[in-house]
Amino acid sequence: MLEKENQSLRILVVVAHPHDFTHGAGTCGIHATQGDSVTVVSVTDGANTHNERLHAELIKPEEERDARVISQSTQEYAEQKAEELRQVCALFGVTDVRVLGFPQPFRVEKMPEAVETLRDVIYDVRPHMLITQKPYIDARHGMAYIARDDHSETAIAILEAVNLAGTPNAVTQKRPHRIAATYYLGVYFMPDEIDFYVDISDWKEKRVQAEILFRSQGHTEPFARKRIEIGAGQMGWHAGTGYAEGFVRAAPELLPKITVPESALRRAAESGMDHLKRISGELKAD
Ligand SMILES: [Zn+2]
Repeated sequence: MLEKENQSLRILVVVAHPHDFTHGAGTCGIHATQGDSVTVVSVTDGANTHNERLHAELIKPEEERDARVISQSTQEYAEQKAEELRQVCALFGVTDVRVLGFPQPFRVEKMPEAVETLRDVIYDVRPHMLITQKPYIDARHGMAYIARDDHSETAIAILEAVNLAGTPNAVTQKRPHRIAATYYLGVYFMPDEIDFYVDISDWKEKRVQAEILFRSQGHTEPFARKRIEIGAGQMGWHAGTGYAEGFVRAAPELLPKITVPESALRRAAESGMDHLKRISGELKAD
């Protein structure tokens, strides 16, 4: 049965590490406040990623190392990160947070059960929209990149799970579920590969707070502000607004007709001076 066009959406976000969620957090916040439901899944607990404080201690002579940092177990570090992810998600109105805890480095062929676990998440959530990481493996000058990473492997695992969930299975007899639209986080792409941007200018401060909350990764407030200025700020620059999050469509969309977004009409009509003020936040969108 076809559901109504203005129904609320169920959105599933699947990333490799807790911090990866932040790259689409503003967009999720916009959807959550407009009544859509958002489920965030981190395939690993990120315990082996960005432990910058441990790195800082381990490069010191043994007698100078901070025992509090050195003695933190991997499990404690993972739990801290999971808690940070829950706090960050709460900033954006997202309460359904699931850390699956598959080991790192995450490789689908070594942990094929991850595909079935993700398929079961799809059956549980039955999302209309999937937001995940870039499944394509490429590198400089278009050369193939042999060393895969947790991000691309996570994308491969969830895309396999999407196929499984949509295929009738005589054994499980579960109602098949197809996801209507899949988008990849633009942060993993080059600017000219982005299909569209979501204006998150009103969510910029929350994006900064999210970076600060990831203390397990050694983030400080000056770092957090710098990161959002050059990350979401650069995407905003390309999009012609203050701050933005870019996305790449998994497939072209079928539309009833061509629609020109309000933002493009406004940009075409406004003066150069007003445009500068809009990017700098001196002029608010109406
Ligand atoms: Zn990551």
